[in-house]
Amino acid sequence: MTARILKGAEFRDPIYAELRAELDVLRAAGITPGLAAVLVGENPASQIYVRNKIAACEQLGIFSAQLSPPTSITTDELVATVENLNRRDDIDGILVQLPLPPQVDAKRVLESVAPEKDVDGFHPISLGRLVTGRPGLVACTPAGCMEILRRSGVRAEGANAVVMGRSDIVGKPMALLLMHANATVTICHSKTRALQEVVRRADIVVAAMGRPWMVAPEWIHPGATVIDVGTNQITDAAEAERLFANHPERLEAFRKKGSALVGDVHPGAAEVAGAITPVPGGVGLLTIAMLMSNTVKAARLRRGRAAGIAHPAGAVRS
Ligand code: NDP
Repeated sequence: MTARILKGAEFRDPIYAELRAELDVLRAAGITPGLAAVLVGENPASQIYVRNKIAACEQLGIFSAQLSPPTSITTDELVATVENLNRRDDIDGILVQLPLPPQVDAKRVLESVAPEKDVDGFHPISLGRLVTGRPGLVACTPAGCMEILRRSGVRAEGANAVVMGRSDIVGKPMALLLMHANATVTICHSKTRALQEVVRRADIVVAAMGRPWMVAPEWIHPGATVIDVGTNQITDAAEAERLFANHPERLEAFRKKGSALVGDVHPGAAEVAGAITPVPGGVGLLTIAMLMSNTVKAARLRRGRAAGIAHPAGAVRS
């Protein structure tokens, strides 16, 4: 069997079309949604992520503002920056790009984002709403994974779903979303025993560990749907040689570029799975699409009522 490859663009494009329709309605009411991205320091990966997010805003006609405080910023200064953004009426969504420098208390900073502008869904209030099944802003990566499942016709109801990873930003919200979609969910982590056997029972597998190609093809139940969230940048030549020992073309590409991006799931799993997301070109595109969706949603919820817009027009999610 060869799996259906669930390419991110296939799902992102219709979401963007729906968002454009909703943006037209908002703009007709005088509302241009706005997103502020706070990028502390000069982490190259973070710079790329923020650049891609701003580019998506430009593509859709969402206003964006980038703030780039220095790496030396203190927690109090960063909280003050966020609080200024909380007060700005033209800003509907605030994202603070992680990781933050070690001297900054990341939890305090994330908690300082006004919950109605929490487009990353990292605030405890957003997570609490998700736990209790109330509407709110949901973390973008797990929300994007759910869009892939829903739009590709994979039934979560009654399915055995296994989530590998239990972080606040991916694993936990992912498991909650699957549970609310009536899957029977098992959450695995670094202390899980016999991980392979647990994964082997899953109809839906979500890998979010940050462990390059750890999930081998034989872990996958034939026909299962595999969502690979892992985004692992390989820069070490020895690691590349080990990983790509049987993939000469990948090794060659690594040597040329000096780096390679791989998921948590070995690509050989595509021979066993029913459907699988690629890395790169899979979940990552949906993460950005969901950030755009959350920004539009936040604008509608915060400013729509006063402008006479009660309901979304062609909204991705309510
Ligand atoms: P974290 O490091 O916060 O969490 C990793 C989780 O995986 C932890 O719960 C950890 O368990 C678990 N884990 C680690 N090693 C193993 C193992 N050997 N066996 C079982 N479980 C293990 O990572 P994030 O949740 O932030 O991110 C996970 C991955 O997703 C990363 O590769 C990241 O780059 C990627 N990512 C991709 C995004 C996208 O847009 N595509 C967005 C966000 C993340 P424990 O809790 O016991 O330590």
